[in-house]
Amino acid sequence: MEKKFRKIGVLTSGGDAPGMNAAVRSVARAALARGVEVVGIKGGYSGLINDNMIELKPRAVTGIIYQGGTFLYSDRCDEFKTEEGMQKAIATCKKHGIDGIVAIGGDGTFRGATDLSVRGIPTIGIPGTIDNDITATENSIGFDTAMNTVLEMVDRLRDTCESHARCNVVEVMGRGAGDIALNTAMALGAVACVIPECPFDEAACMEKIRTLRADGKRSFLVIVSEGVENFSEGLAKRIQAETGVETKFARLAHVVRGGTPTLTDRVFATKLGVAAVDQLLAGKSNLVMCQQNNKIVAVDILYSQCLDRKYKGTLKEGMLEKFSAEEIAAMDAAIAEKKAEFAELYAIVNDLAR
Ligand code: ADP
Repeated sequence: MEKKFRKIGVLTSGGDAPGMNAAVRSVARAALARGVEVVGIKGGYSGLINDNMIELKPRAVTGIIYQGGTFLYSDRCDEFKTEEGMQKAIATCKKHGIDGIVAIGGDGTFRGATDLSVRGIPTIGIPGTIDNDITATENSIGFDTAMNTVLEMVDRLRDTCESHARCNVVEVMGRGAGDIALNTAMALGAVACVIPECPFDEAACMEKIRTLRADGKRSFLVIVSEGVENFSEGLAKRIQAETGVETKFARLAHVVRGGTPTLTDRVFATKLGVAAVDQLLAGKSNLVMCQQNNKIVAVDILYSQCLDRKYKGTLKEGMLEKFSAEEIAAMDAAIAEKKAEFAELYAIVNDLAR
């Protein structure tokens, strides 16, 4: 027998991402359309602990679909990681009659979602992070907007690089993942790209810049992921010293996290929001909504986390015990596919730099 839902909560947690508002709107409107009340929990999990929430009637989410940031605010809440904090959060849910939660954020947010789920508050996750660093999903809310912002910013740098015959090394966000750097490097026609996933041949990069300059190429762009730590600024200095090409350095940082979400992010966020509400109302819990083969699917959060850890080489003893041989084989296949895709795109960026 399916549980009758009367009220659900929605929150945004961890690093903000453009499109989170579109997801909140979608969750709220989808739930209301199905006769379920909605509250917006403010400031991520700290809003649950401190009982900080607003009722989301249809008009409360009017005019937010195009806004960057998150109107529910976001927070990093360490208290939520403690049993005491968790119990306060559950007491708030009971007090308000919140039957389930949609949590929009990254992998930390999903760990919090699992903690709520196992304590009897059904919770569904939605991937909202510009970094696209959740292995189970091909896309995450904010990724497309962030990449388009990088393009806009670096296209401007290219103008001035071309005028002055310079190189510009640009560091972009992405935490430990090179997705933003790799895709934007391709779209910008960068001469080189430095990401954690693929080995960077610095000597070959220097040689290429020297050869291309001798051939008359005036401007050069090198895109570096922040995941390759303490590297980008030094690389700019070395390029200038070793090639003689004047080289500037730019770190785009948080400018890439803000701004109006693109069509892709708004549509994606909207689809994820509706799908998350459908899962919750169907009695499901502890799932993260993902895109796989261009379709929205629900993935077990533990599976998603173990897949991530396997990909990053951070699995702990016994973590895979819950999974069947077929599931572990599926994880290995997904990881091999992702690695092959990175290698392929990386090779294309380097091949086309001429
Ligand atoms: P993101 O969701 O973007 O990865 P964080 O890692 O900062 O961002 O996580 C967001 C929030 O999720 C944290 O501030 C905390 O409230 C909650 N959280 C993270 N890890 C856990 C955990 N192991 N258990 C419970 N809650 C967690």
